[in-house]
Amino acid sequence: MRELLFCLIYGFAVITYFIGFTVLHNGSRKNRIDQLYFISAVFSAGWSLFIALVLIQTDVDRAALLRAAGVFHIFGLLICITNMMIYWSDVRSRVKRWTAGFVWLGILLYPFMIQKKNVIFEMTAYGMSFRIKPGIWSVAYTVFCMIVALNLLLLIICMLRKSIRKREKIVAYALMLCVCIVVVGCALDTTVQMAGYAAVPVSTIGQFAAQMVLYRIYQFYNKSRVTLENMSEFVYYSVDEPVFLFDEAEKLCIVNNGATMFLGMSAPECCKLRLNDIFVLARDAFRFQGNKNRVEARCWQNNNICSISIDKIYDDYKDIIGYIVIVHDVTERVHMLESLAQEKQRADKANEAKGAFLANMSHEIRTPINAVMGMNEMILRECEDETILEYAGNIQDASRTLLVLINDILDFSKIESGMLEVVEEAYSLKALLGTLKAECSMRAEDKGLDLIFDVPQDTPNILLGDEVRVRQVLLNILTNAIKYTMKGNVTLKVAYRKIKEREIEITFAVKDTGIGIKKENIGRLFGKFDRIDEEQVHAIEGTGLGLSIVDKLVKLMNGTLTVESVYGEGSTFTVCLCQQVIGEETVGCLSEKKREGRRKDIPVFIAPKARILVVDDNKVNLTVIKALLRKTKVQVTCVETGKECLEYAAKESYDVILLDHMMPVMDGIETLEALKKMPDNQCKDAAVIALTANAMAGVREMYLDKGFNDYLAKPIEGTVLEQLIMRYLPEEYVTKNKEQE
Ligand code: ADP
Repeated sequence: MRELLFCLIYGFAVITYFIGFTVLHNGSRKNRIDQLYFISAVFSAGWSLFIALVLIQTDVDRAALLRAAGVFHIFGLLICITNMMIYWSDVRSRVKRWTAGFVWLGILLYPFMIQKKNVIFEMTAYGMSFRIKPGIWSVAYTVFCMIVALNLLLLIICMLRKSIRKREKIVAYALMLCVCIVVVGCALDTTVQMAGYAAVPVSTIGQFAAQMVLYRIYQFYNKSRVTLENMSEFVYYSVDEPVFLFDEAEKLCIVNNGATMFLGMSAPECCKLRLNDIFVLARDAFRFQGNKNRVEARCWQNNNICSISIDKIYDDYKDIIGYIVIVHDVTERVHMLESLAQEKQRADKANEAKGAFLANMSHEIRTPINAVMGMNEMILRECEDETILEYAGNIQDASRTLLVLINDILDFSKIESGMLEVVEEAYSLKALLGTLKAECSMRAEDKGLDLIFDVPQDTPNILLGDEVRVRQVLLNILTNAIKYTMKGNVTLKVAYRKIKEREIEITFAVKDTGIGIKKENIGRLFGKFDRIDEEQVHAIEGTGLGLSIVDKLVKLMNGTLTVESVYGEGSTFTVCLCQQVIGEETVGCLSEKKREGRRKDIPVFIAPKARILVVDDNKVNLTVIKALLRKTKVQVTCVETGKECLEYAAKESYDVILLDHMMPVMDGIETLEALKKMPDNQCKDAAVIALTANAMAGVREMYLDKGFNDYLAKPIEGTVLEQLIMRYLPEEYVTKNKEQE
């Protein structure tokens, strides 16, 4: 019996130690409750161990010594349990101090409790037994134990009163059970002996039972606070994404709620599946290099498209123990991307159609204007009657305005659809400013305005930039300044600043003394089709598109456009651009010579030996060109198709070929290609100039790319045509007309 009891209590000690260490190992060493539970387990195990050892002793001295060690652990355990209860109960500091302080009084009792003379040892059927001799120390010990028990009950009552949550109440009742077990155990310890029975260490058995209850409370308490262990459980079940846990043998063993919902099956049903039963995946989906793999696959069950991440899970020895599969349902995203791609395709097609429509429109509108302007120019050149000349002059003005309008609309559409690109080439600033001045001075003169170009002589001349666009921007601003100024002057002031070794920031400020713009309207200036201050400007021609185009072009060239204006006094439009500098040449002095009105009846040059082939499917255009070139005395041959062009080129040699683009059967580009490939081409050295009504912004570059030497937009102006042709004729054929230079 003795050995059996020893083994039992010894077993208690081992179990309690084991649990204590597990708690400390698994829990956080910094957590107070983990620490307290561990210490209490050590004391409890110590109590069981030493009392078990006492049982098997035959020598009273040794038994007394071992009992002293056991009693030490009893006091230690009481201190620990009291502190744990204080921690859980969260009572007022006074109660806390009293309970925590009182339990330490046991230390005072301890020396007397272990004295051999105060204890009776006797051998019983259950082994060596002991009890405190009746007297002052036994009374003191009993009172101490009772007060400690009452204190603990007091803490529990406080806890119950304060507890709001159910789990707090459960903890309190469980603690009460714990205290009761200990009290009953201790009471039985003494009463059994008093009744004359052999003493059994019931208190030791009771404290073990209480310690087990305490462990359950500890576990329960831990479940209701966030720890690493339970957190992963909470996360696992709360995430909406389907999560599947596979074991080492690739068998599905755990699924979260997201997964059951995703598959529309119960958890046990899900667990019968393998990964490739769920997704359209290869059997070896788990065999991959590294720890993580991401694949895209369709789900067999619901046909959804999923992005699947597979993570390997390892044990402490880096051996695989399973796989976590997290599924992101990307069906909606994929469908959205697909429809976006379709939308884009549709938009691209629409854009292409728009581009084609614009080119077509450009062609269709320009062709008749070309005829009107060309024929009108003939009247201007050849007619002597003043009244008719005046009418023809009006036709010319109106058709020019119409042309500007069409150009603006086409340019604007092209910019809007992102089809306009900046093409940088070397250009002469001096030449650009010269032509600008020539173009604007007539209009300024007509209105009695002074047009001043203030350009520092040391401004670099050869710049790298998009000459056409720079010109377009400045011409637009200058034209506006002249349009909206009734008296005074318009000044173009150029300034530059070196920003890098071969780069300058060039500023063009156009200042006028015109009607000015109200402050509140300045923000609206660049809006499309927006003409501000209508009552002031309604008499002045305009569409409200010019500045919108200017603004967009300046932005395309990475420049800035600013406006300052005083209403009623005038405005300053400033364009700032960065341009590369080529060479050392400077602008120098801009010629102040006023352009004499060109005498229309005198051509720029005469070249009777020159031969020109004009190819255009429009008969009127052919007549216009022929008429425009009549005074130059060049020999003009007109044909109407690409095929005819090739036939003529095979027979005779020409110096210049003016080739229309849009022609039926074989267009200008195809004709040029065929011409270049033709072995018997007599016009190998001829300059081929694209002659087209397609005057959309950016087409010039396209024609040069296709192999044309130059480009001329319809409607053709006589002088421009003459100057262009003269550039490509052999010098020996050309007699320049001094008057027209
Ligand atoms: P519009 O064809 O009407 O000239 P713009 O886009 O070039 O179109 O200009 C928009 C509006 O800005 C004009 O209608 C005019 O009211 C105002 N504006 C432009 N330039 C000037 C200027 N130099 N002085 C006063 N107002 C101007």
